[in-house]
Amino acid sequence: MKDTFGRTINYLRISVTDRCNLRCRYCMPASGVKLLRHEDILSFEEIAEVTRAAAGMGVTKVRITGGEPLVRHGIIQLVEALAQIEGILDLAMTTNATLLPKYAQALADAGLHRVNISLDTIDPAGYKHLTRGGDLQAALAGIEAAQRAGLTPIKLNCVTDEDGGPGEALIEFGRARGIEVRAIRRMDFGIGSFSVVEGGSGGDCPRCNRLRLSSDGRVRPCLFSDISFSVRELGLAEALGRAVLNKPQAGGPCEHNWMHGIGG
Ligand code: SAM
Ligand code: SF4
Repeated sequence: MKDTFGRTINYLRISVTDRCNLRCRYCMPASGVKLLRHEDILSFEEIAEVTRAAAGMGVTKVRITGGEPLVRHGIIQLVEALAQIEGILDLAMTTNATLLPKYAQALADAGLHRVNISLDTIDPAGYKHLTRGGDLQAALAGIEAAQRAGLTPIKLNCVTDEDGGPGEALIEFGRARGIEVRAIRRMDFGIGSFSVVEGGSGGDCPRCNRLRLSSDGRVRPCLFSDISFSVRELGLAEALGRAVLNKPQAGGPCEHNWMHGIGG
């Protein structure tokens, strides 16, 4: 499907939860976050229905994200359901990898194609600091498990400061394992500062092909906009259709600061 600026929209990013087992400094406030009520979070059936409708409108690429998607109970069944939807050619997940030792093989068996893994440093103390308590060993074991399970090609996403890039040790870590390391500049919603993801299409407004489904069931045409359409209030087709029609030409400053609910 085309939006009003002639861009082909074929990519749906689905946030399946606003919960996470880490507290990355750039993503969640130290004070914690107000979590959605269980009944406000879309069920797996609802997520599959939205995805089916989106596939019917031309979406071929789906990414499951969060919060941390692997903390959502039953995630394997969701992957299984999405993998069976006709027209979805690329089914990927973005994860912090800490639960991949447990789930990588089951995810692959359920039909997940590949994972992007968020890893900003391979220094254990630095990782613990950035994630407010995370265990680097768990993330590294997750990367190995993903490689073993064939959830490839794996990409490592590294959030960097304005002027910095991924550290040399992280680049070398990726190189030694044949894993691409991509820099994502830290974004700030309030001032509308966002960036192009190296080697990806994120942040590149003229070429943006995305819609997002947030964990509370709103279709968002742009990460850097507060516009959203509720699938529960409007119905699937209407919410998807309006999101495409109202997709802004470019992102800008916005009120929300909800990366962990929209999924990046
Ligand atoms: N928990 C999963 C993970 O960390 O991969 C998936 C959700 S997370 C919100 C998705 C991506 O958003 C991660 O790669 C994370 O690094 C990125 N992210 C979160 N806050 C960000 C910010 N302020 N600026 C840039 N990227 C951010
Ligand atoms: Fe959790 Fe991912 Fe946000 Fe880190 S970036 S707090 S792992 S959702």
